[in-house]
Amino acid sequence: MGFFDSIKRFKKQLEQVESSVYSSNQSLLEVYERNAKLEAEIALRTNELDRANKQMLTLQHVWDMMNSSKPLSSVLNAIVNSLQGELGYLYSFIVKQKADNDGTYFQIVASSKDDFGIKFSEYFNCDVADFRMTFPDISEIKNAIKENRIYQSTELLKLIYEFIPQLGEENIKTFLNASNMKSYILVPLMSKQTHFGSLVVFSSRETVSNNELNFLNLFAKQIELAITIADLFQAVKEQAITDGMTGLYNRRYFEEFIKKEAVRAERQGQKFTVIGLDLDHLKQINDAYGHNYGDIAIKAIAEVLKNNARSIDIAARMGGEEFNLILPGVDSAGGCIAAERIRKAIEAVDLEKIGHITASLGVATYLEHSDDIDELLEITDRAMYESKRNGRNRVTIARPAHETSWQELAVNTFIDILTKHRIPVDEKTSKVLAQKLQEMNNDKLYQVADSLVETYNPEHTEGSVKQKVQIASLLAKRFDLPKESIDKLKIAVLLYDIGNTMLPKELLRKKEPLTEEEKLSIKQHPVIAAREILEPISNVVDIIPIIEKHHENWNGTGYPAKISGDDIPIESQIILIIDSYFALLEKRPYRDAMTKEEAIKQIEKDINQKWSEKLAREFIGIVQNEG
Ligand code: GH3
Ligand code: MG
Repeated sequence: MGFFDSIKRFKKQLEQVESSVYSSNQSLLEVYERNAKLEAEIALRTNELDRANKQMLTLQHVWDMMNSSKPLSSVLNAIVNSLQGELGYLYSFIVKQKADNDGTYFQIVASSKDDFGIKFSEYFNCDVADFRMTFPDISEIKNAIKENRIYQSTELLKLIYEFIPQLGEENIKTFLNASNMKSYILVPLMSKQTHFGSLVVFSSRETVSNNELNFLNLFAKQIELAITIADLFQAVKEQAITDGMTGLYNRRYFEEFIKKEAVRAERQGQKFTVIGLDLDHLKQINDAYGHNYGDIAIKAIAEVLKNNARSIDIAARMGGEEFNLILPGVDSAGGCIAAERIRKAIEAVDLEKIGHITASLGVATYLEHSDDIDELLEITDRAMYESKRNGRNRVTIARPAHETSWQELAVNTFIDILTKHRIPVDEKTSKVLAQKLQEMNNDKLYQVADSLVETYNPEHTEGSVKQKVQIASLLAKRFDLPKESIDKLKIAVLLYDIGNTMLPKELLRKKEPLTEEEKLSIKQHPVIAAREILEPISNVVDIIPIIEKHHENWNGTGYPAKISGDDIPIESQIILIIDSYFALLEKRPYRDAMTKEEAIKQIEKDINQKWSEKLAREFIGIVQNEG
């Protein structure tokens, strides 16, 4: 082989090498390109996965919140805040659609806690959540809500202005310019096939991808779920028949049961007995050892009741420290034995730290003491209170309702008012008065009533309570009122001014004429206070309406309801004329006291204005006879 041949071969080989290098270069490039593509793809997928994960986390967070059975508002707040935290929206809130006499409106029920809210309240000097928002008159929004689909728009100014026009368009514009909000997304929320409200999200981006809209849709579903669960939770709670703390039946169940039991008792002529029970001195236990120990005492009572009840008995916790039992088929004698057994069992309980506890009990029997459930429960309660008054840790059997005198009712009411400190009478006076009342005779009752009047209105000099009760009773008879109503009226006469105890004393003693504002306060306050004082006393709730209307005039110029004529209960009319008459006999800072004759003239003058002719004539007849 010659030299040239060798060169040629070498060149060929070189070409081959070159070409193979080139081709491997080519494929390397391809591989490189392919890799790059894949990597980009992976990055994209990772991003998506990451976003999806974040969304899943948000949803999981929401789900956890919903399972915690917290009140709906705190669940919703947590939901919008989680949206905020994970995805960086500027502000999101949930509005609830509400309606009243003035129409439909929106109110914020949950909102994210972030800069926006703070800046908003600083800028407008108010909390956005306080607004009654007008239903936006934007047809796209209305349609979106109607069709239950998501809506997005960049017209933030329009939306906020429609929601809260009172902020002023210019103000909103300036505020928005300073923020970097670009668009909003509104997601309608449905609950039980009706429009609940909307989730509104303010975003810093002008447009939102489909992915994101999907996510928001899913998110809204979670909110809807939370609302549904809260509704269900509420419904379940309402259907519950047991008390969570003790496992006894609750008040609701008790009330249902006793109604049915009464029907059964009547049909079968079979009595049943109610035992009312109240733990003694729970307040002291709470104060000495803390609320937890108070709860322990309550649970201990519940245990005793469970252990002492037959399977057909019903033991219920009526609320707080108050329990009721129903013993079907048991008469009052049997009821007393059962009550005494329970009392002893409670007394025997020995609790850690607290030691022994006691309870006061009252017993009443259906078809024996009363054949009306409300009345039965009332006299059971009264008997229980009698146990308290007589030293606690005892059983008292009820007296039949019709045997209870009005004085007894009045005495019990006064004792309740005094010992429960429903009016600001000092401890010492209150004790002395309550002790007097325990002795229970009519004169003591009047004395206490008079002393009470004196404590809150020293100006009252004319007309003792006794005198007023007597006149009221005579008048009531002239109007043919039944005994029951007359009894109620007598108690009302004792109590109609009780609300005055709550008036600032300076006002009552003021020598100068009162300002209009003071007059209004003096006028309105006592009636409101009377209700507050008397409402918790079950015995006298039905006299509250009488007291509330004793400033109404015959011609409708009185207060507070401005009713007139026979719309005013006759009992209230009677109190008005008696009260007015004795007031005329008294000196006032702004006028002299009148003589009896002058007062009667004034009563005549006010005929058809403050009272009816008949009432005035009867009244004048009675006081003229008094000599
Ligand atoms: P009395 O012997 O006259 O019944 O005195 P008392 O202290 O038991 O009665 P009072 O009605 O003056 O006060 C009852 C207190 O019981 C007031 C309230 O704070 C407390 N209480 C009510 N419900 C509960 C409860 O569920 N747990 C606890 N620990 N205390 C309660
Ligand atoms: Mg108690």
